Amino acid sequence: MWRCHGATYAELVANLQKHGILTSPEAAVAMSKVDRKIFVPDSKLAYHDAPQVIGYGATISAPHMHSYCLSLLADYLKPGSIVLDVGSGSGYLTAVFGLMVGETGHTVGVEHIPQLVERSIDAIKMTPASSLMEMGRLVVHVADGKLGWEECGPYDAIHVGAAAADLPEALVQQLKPGGRMVIPVGTDSQELMIVDKLLDGTVKKTNELGVRYVPLI
Ligand code: SAH
Repeated sequence: MWRCHGATYAELVANLQKHGILTSPEAAVAMSKVDRKIFVPDSKLAYHDAPQVIGYGATISAPHMHSYCLSLLADYLKPGSIVLDVGSGSGYLTAVFGLMVGETGHTVGVEHIPQLVERSIDAIKMTPASSLMEMGRLVVHVADGKLGWEECGPYDAIHVGAAAADLPEALVQQLKPGGRMVIPVGTDSQELMIVDKLLDGTVKKTNELGVRYVPLI
């Protein structure tokens, strides 16, 4: 259990850095601009380092999990990169990705619950990522994320926010050579898997740590 709770959002982000979970300075800057309070139903618990139920069987992940995934993906989230967020849920991480890849990049969220997509778009509009949405550089679609979002790929970075029973082949295909995917895999026991597609197209899988995510349906 991580204990990075903060009294303020700035304190939460600082604690995540202090504990060595949020290791990328670029991710920390982007994260600081996306107040978690906008994305959670219970704002009193916004800066707790814990997941929060957001309805429809979904949760916004804990800040330490968001930070962990951001740190693993930071090198693939440069200005101009193309990123796919599968199971985008609250939209929090989609907004952070958007600010990292910027207006020369492209950020695509895919979520299968239409009401969550609608709510996430409203929330993102209240952050500095709003302008990216206006420019069409950040979009959130209602779709089955197991199929990815082919027309905007291949992707430098793919993040999956729900646990897949098996690694979805479409997502591996939509990963750019030189790109990286971070995805929880498993049912009863889950592992956060790093999938690196090497420049020659070889796929390298590394299990990073045991995790607990809602299932990718
Ligand atoms: N990163 C998100 C995680 C939300 S929880 C956040 O922190 O807010 C996981 C999300 O995956 C849920 O919103 C759920 O509805 C969604 N999901 C599950 N299966 C899916 C599928 N097949 N396609 C798209 N989204 C899916």
